[in-house]
Amino acid sequence: MLLREVEYARPASVQEALRLLGANDGARALAGGQTLINVMKARAASPDVLIDLADIGELRGIELGADGTLELGAMTTYTDIINSAEARARPILGEVCNQIADVQVRNRGTIGGNVCSNDPTNHLPPLLVAIGATMTIVGQGGERSVPAAEFFLGVYMTAAGATASPPSRSARRAPASSTLQRHSTVERGLDSQSAASTPCRSS
Ligand SMILES: Cc1cc2nc3c(=O)[nH]c(=O)nc-3n(C[C@H](O)[C@H](O)[C@H](O)COP(=O)(O)OP(=O)(O)OC[C@H]3O[C@@H](n4cnc5c(N)ncnc54)[C@H](O)[C@@H]3O)c2cc1C
Repeated sequence: MLLREVEYARPASVQEALRLLGANDGARALAGGQTLINVMKARAASPDVLIDLADIGELRGIELGADGTLELGAMTTYTDIINSAEARARPILGEVCNQIADVQVRNRGTIGGNVCSNDPTNHLPPLLVAIGATMTIVGQGGERSVPAAEFFLGVYMTAAGATASPPSRSARRAPASSTLQRHSTVERGLDSQSAASTPCRSS
């Protein structure tokens, strides 16, 4: 099914993305599109404007600090994580990302989109809780950090706001959110064994 008509913006900075999201109740952030575009095709969500985060370099990248803290930008794809030498400091991340769907979904899908959609069948929310990650959320009022255990508020709801409902849900327009999830941070401490019992969706 084709998408209904929708406006599209491709800001180059987080500040510009926040301005655009805040300026229109019907605006929605677009990351890899692997959930959002499908939900739009099914007419279960109907944003007026898509704010594509693809050109925002500050949302990408994987950094391993000298103290062992790993920081993952929200627009980092599953393939980026699988291929990253830095991310191997927490091998469970690449191992789990490698189980997600197929190559196309892994090449397009992002850690930010995965956690912000908070679909109960997604792999990353329980993993990030299990390894004690912290999410950084940015809005026009500034930035705050939230432990993963407090970030996931309920099905399709997070501390970064409600996201697209899946086709089976009735809401066509979720409440607008003018915040973005900027990055996830995992401190040194837990190894892959401690997270090995994280529930995963079998496909
Ligand atoms: C065929 C198929 C199979 C799949 N199988 C699996 C699977 O086995 N396991 C799994 O975990 N997932 C699976 N998925 C989902 C996939 O991982 C998606 O990529 C993911 O759920 C959403 O990531 P995205 O980058 O595509 O986000 P998008 O679809 O672009 O966005 C999803 C939602 O998050 C919001 N959002 C995105 N980024 C941000 C941000 N930085 N800040 C605030 N809000 C944001 C968007 O506004 C939107 O509401 C599958 C998808 C498909 C199509």
